[in-house]
Amino acid sequence: MLTRDVIRALAKALGPERVFDDPATLALYSTDETPRKVTPGAVLFPANHEHVVALMQIAFANKLPVVARGAGSGNVGGALPVANGLVASFECMNRIVEFDPGNRIMVVEPGVVTEDIGQLARTHGLFYPPDPGSGAYSRIGGNLAMNAAGPHAIKYGVTRDYVLGLKAVTGEGKTISTGCRTSKGVTGYDFTRLLIGSEGTLALITQATVKLLPAPETVATLRLCYASNRAACEAIDRVMNQPIIPCALELMDRRSIEAIRPTGAADDLPFGTEALLMVEADGPVRDVPHQIAALKEALKGDGLLEVREGVTREEAQALWAARKSLSHAVKQYAPLKINEDVVVPVSRLADFVDFLDSLGHRYPFPIVSFGHAGNGNLHVNLMVHPDNTEEMAQARNCLNELFTTVLSFGGTLSGEHGIGTEKRAYLGMEINADTLSLMRAVKQQFDPAGILNPGKLFPDS
Ligand SMILES: Cc1cc2nc3c(=O)[nH]c(=O)nc-3n(C[C@H](O)[C@H](O)[C@H](O)COP(=O)(O)OP(=O)(O)OC[C@H]3O[C@@H](n4cnc5c(N)ncnc54)[C@H](O)[C@@H]3O)c2cc1C
Repeated sequence: MLTRDVIRALAKALGPERVFDDPATLALYSTDETPRKVTPGAVLFPANHEHVVALMQIAFANKLPVVARGAGSGNVGGALPVANGLVASFECMNRIVEFDPGNRIMVVEPGVVTEDIGQLARTHGLFYPPDPGSGAYSRIGGNLAMNAAGPHAIKYGVTRDYVLGLKAVTGEGKTISTGCRTSKGVTGYDFTRLLIGSEGTLALITQATVKLLPAPETVATLRLCYASNRAACEAIDRVMNQPIIPCALELMDRRSIEAIRPTGAADDLPFGTEALLMVEADGPVRDVPHQIAALKEALKGDGLLEVREGVTREEAQALWAARKSLSHAVKQYAPLKINEDVVVPVSRLADFVDFLDSLGHRYPFPIVSFGHAGNGNLHVNLMVHPDNTEEMAQARNCLNELFTTVLSFGGTLSGEHGIGTEKRAYLGMEINADTLSLMRAVKQQFDPAGILNPGKLFPDS
């Protein structure tokens, strides 16, 4: 229980200026991107690894839940506090500890803002590829815990592919170090990959060594308009069946296009556009035109209304800004966005969008789909009114249909947002009971008291 004595012990260990339990701070840290709100008992702002060890030891001794928090931009309730528990907010642990361009690595604390890593890397011609749409404010600790990814994942992979090693604190307050600083290393079990995507349920990450790549010399953008979602997805399938990998391949459906109209980015689309693809190629200046030619060839086909090549840097930036604003822009359709990020094999994408069209006809609320189609990863948003109980019941049925179909196509429930509170009831649809029980046993080893982010990821037993 969180008593005054515990608060005093935390204040003594971290310093009183790092422990807050006033109503304003508690309210500020009671939410994330979900519409839920849970008031914690105290919010802690550790400044270094030793603070995290101390706070975990106190939490362990008092059996107090601890929820790690980056920027609170997660969509699945991962950073939602436990009532009267502790929030460990990492925003003060925001130092870039080391930048070693020769070895192409950077050592960062969890509170570093994602895009700051890329910006520093670029000063030495290097590049940190993971690019979640929230990168301007999300923290690397949150990215690590969710294995975040963005449009570049199609060519460059996800956060997990860029982490060489981690330092972290377990649920008992023990320090663990995983991985190494070199590009090769197979010493011991791969706890780095285990911790990435573990949603703050196994350990609190206090440091990460990330890998950098040489920055591509140039990028070229194509914008393609199609008469249907199916036509666009068949084009994506053709792209993935030839050797040139674009560095981004994003889809927006008709409702997404409507949602970005106020930005002006859709002003000049041809009549009849039902789906839009943004395709990018990057690499050496002499090579990119050949890549673009090959991609254009693959993208041609039935239903293609227009290809715009030579999209200027400003136009590309406007398109990307519009694409990145979609997550909030779709809220014009209804106050609550039930935001899924399912993945299907690219070869099934065209059938999947047909299925989404059929859902759209059978359910009374708008369904808006967009996202990283080159990975088969679509954000499927059910736009509903939370006060309408009939609509909410239908939304639950719709989700069941959605997940069942995704799994029957050989896909997965979440490509990047994770499970958190929002999808844990569905986890058993994808992961069998024996695997789940092994996962629970692993958690027990890292967190014997079950205080790290309880009530997240796992379904009720
Ligand atoms: C507009 C918008 C666009 C988005 N676009 C994308 C996208 O393109 N791709 C994508 O993958 N996601 C996207 N997201 C989701 C979200 O931004 C990512 O999941 C991001 O990684 C969360 O980072 P955060 O710092 O906000 O973490 P939080 O939301 O604060 O926390 C997320 C999880 O990480 C855990 N955590 C945080 N820090 C630590 C730590 N140091 N140690 C252990 N656990 C920790 C928390 O407990 C929680 O479970 C988007 C969100 C929004 C609002």
